[in-house]
Amino acid sequence: KPLVFSGVQPTGNLHLGNYLGAIRKFVALQESNDCIYCVVDLHSITAQLVHEDLIGQIRSIAAAFIASGIDPEKHIVFNQSAVPQHAELAWVFNCVARIGWMNRMTQFKDKAGKDRENASLGLLAYPSLMAADILVYRATHVPVGDDQKQHLELARDIAMKFNLDFKEKIRATGTGVDIVVGEEPVHAYFPMVEPMIEGPAPRVMSLRDGTKKMSKSDPSDLSRINLMDDAEAISKKIRKAKTDPDALPSETEGLKGRPEADNLVGIYAALADTSKANVLAQFGGQQFSAFKPALIDLAVSVLSPVTTEMRRLMDDTAHIDAILRKGGERARARAEKTMAEVADIIGFLR
Ligand code: ATP
Ligand code: MG
Repeated sequence: KPLVFSGVQPTGNLHLGNYLGAIRKFVALQESNDCIYCVVDLHSITAQLVHEDLIGQIRSIAAAFIASGIDPEKHIVFNQSAVPQHAELAWVFNCVARIGWMNRMTQFKDKAGKDRENASLGLLAYPSLMAADILVYRATHVPVGDDQKQHLELARDIAMKFNLDFKEKIRATGTGVDIVVGEEPVHAYFPMVEPMIEGPAPRVMSLRDGTKKMSKSDPSDLSRINLMDDAEAISKKIRKAKTDPDALPSETEGLKGRPEADNLVGIYAALADTSKANVLAQFGGQQFSAFKPALIDLAVSVLSPVTTEMRRLMDDTAHIDAILRKGGERARARAEKTMAEVADIIGFLR
């Protein structure tokens, strides 16, 4: 069975982008894969060090996973800091990766802002920890939103460089397998990860600005639909969502150059589990005043059962904590095996 890994940061309210771009895909992948889903708390201190209620945020992400339909018995749900091997492998990857690779990351540039010299070193090294999250399990498939594509390419570069730099040691320890990357045969310890980004809403945009991604850290709450929003809040935010004055086109071609329209149609398609073309076949020629109420009804009907279940789960913190603890133990057993092999490959004494 392919091994799937993905993570979500406990950095604030989960939103529709997280749900459609990530969590819903996590749920769908359970059927035919072995899955590890992580609340990446080590990542959450890279952009902002001090959080008011980090424990509460960690629990709420775990609750969202489970409320959405992830089965923590069949698969693994845990928080990253419970498995120290993530940070340990990230250190090795900090020595594999080059500073220039990190400097090119658009997420770093966005999050660091103008005063880059004053960003944390952890924010710069974020992609190295992310590569370690995945590769400490030697996972191959990573469902993420489109914004993480560049980081996954970097994870492949790190894996490739490790495999090539330690080629002889990997052979000597008998821990590798022969794979082909492009045309090139490689004796690899770490696999090449495959991003899973497809779907009608790989990048859900802000409701206030169709050129900015919907984000937990956007100061405007009107820019996003939170998973914990009630029907009234969802309705208000969609009614206020920025649009243009034209009617909806009847073909996807007509969404070009209309980022807000494209975004709302993509959200509808993802929520209804269909394509943008199908949505436009139904709503083409209609005004937003007709489309928005349909979108509100759909969003409320999909999200409200998740919200209700999330609230119920969050009332029982002992239950959530027990799930995370058990998940952490299972994850650690796997990660320890990888780190022992990595130590042998590098030549650490243990
Ligand atoms: P932050 O602003 O703190 O980075 P975030 O909203 O980007 O928060 P993350 O925890 O960084 O959330 O990302 C979790 C998952 O959600 C990732 O797979 C990411 O690609 C996905 N994701 C985040 N925002 C969007 C979006 N607007 N559309 C689609 N997927 C998204
Ligand atoms: Mg993010």
